[in-house]
Amino acid sequence: MAIDLNKLVRKNIQQLKPYSSARHEFTGKASVFLDANENAYGSPMEDEYNRYPDPLQWQLKFQLARIKGVPAENIFIGNGSDEVIDLAYRIFCDPQKDNVIICPPTYGMYEVSANINDVAIKRVNLTVSYQLDVPAILAAIDVNTKMLFICSPNNPTGNDMKRDDVVELLNTFPGIVIIDEAYINYSKQKTFIQELTIYPNLIVMQTLSKAWGMAALRVGLCYASMDIIDLFNKVKPPYNINEASQQMATEALTNTTLVNGWIKEVVAQKDWVGDELADLSYVEKVYPSDANFILVKVRDAEGLYKFLAENGIVVRNRSREPLCENSLRITIGTPAENKKLVQIFKQYKG
Ligand SMILES: *Cc1c(COP(=O)(O)O)cnc(C)c1O
Repeated sequence: MAIDLNKLVRKNIQQLKPYSSARHEFTGKASVFLDANENAYGSPMEDEYNRYPDPLQWQLKFQLARIKGVPAENIFIGNGSDEVIDLAYRIFCDPQKDNVIICPPTYGMYEVSANINDVAIKRVNLTVSYQLDVPAILAAIDVNTKMLFICSPNNPTGNDMKRDDVVELLNTFPGIVIIDEAYINYSKQKTFIQELTIYPNLIVMQTLSKAWGMAALRVGLCYASMDIIDLFNKVKPPYNINEASQQMATEALTNTTLVNGWIKEVVAQKDWVGDELADLSYVEKVYPSDANFILVKVRDAEGLYKFLAENGIVVRNRSREPLCENSLRITIGTPAENKKLVQIFKQYKG
């Protein structure tokens, strides 16, 4: 879709003069830094964290660029995907005027972030087979519709959205399409980050919180055109990714062999858990999953949830979500954890 970014971006953001940090203003070579009121003596611990971190996280971006095959200039890094979502609202949506489309059942933060930013939500439920209802999405668009969130693989249902549907929406949606690929490493579908040059209205989100095993570091990844990345950089807090997270993530990203091994193991374990649970009389359905969790429909989700909790296992009850009646979302754990899960499921007299 040919879009006019200027029409989509809020006036106050277009006109915003961003904060210019000390590290930003000086670009030459220097050895004495007396420009940022830091403690020049050091830090009271072994590693030194007394200097402000790189506001644009270039080392981490170069590393990502190598792995992902996307130029570093097309990457924005958020303090978790949640910061990326919030910034997108703040860049594109005028409070109390604009609206966005989400497709429930889906990730809760799209709606929470809309509420925080006082932006209206249009809910277009997925179809009964948990796919995008493209005609209904197109029918929901009005002049104030700025963004569409597509989660693929989707949380909590676990399945990929059909690529043809996503492409159709990228071609026809008159605003920003955000594709959330938090679980892409577990899926056989191709990422959309190679399509950034084709779709100027595309933002792809990924994260180091799931397959990469760094949820505590809070590193959310965002890929988009340079024009959109510039907007994110303008609006973000100057030092949104701390130095420890930048360093550890940059280093950890070299360990692809270990992570790829885990992904294979999780997928195999998911198949095993799914098969075991599907055999139980009170389990009505184990939904096919392209992620690292499964959605399981049972006779009495509340009762089973409590039984699991009494036995020390916590899962997510998604029963109150549309199309998820009596359904639990279960993350795939280690082989020992999964064995215990199956064992407790078998003890349940549903
Ligand atoms: C877990 C998850 C994320 C990741 O959020 P972070 O803030 O990066 O930890 C993003 N989107 C979806 C759909 C998720 O399930």
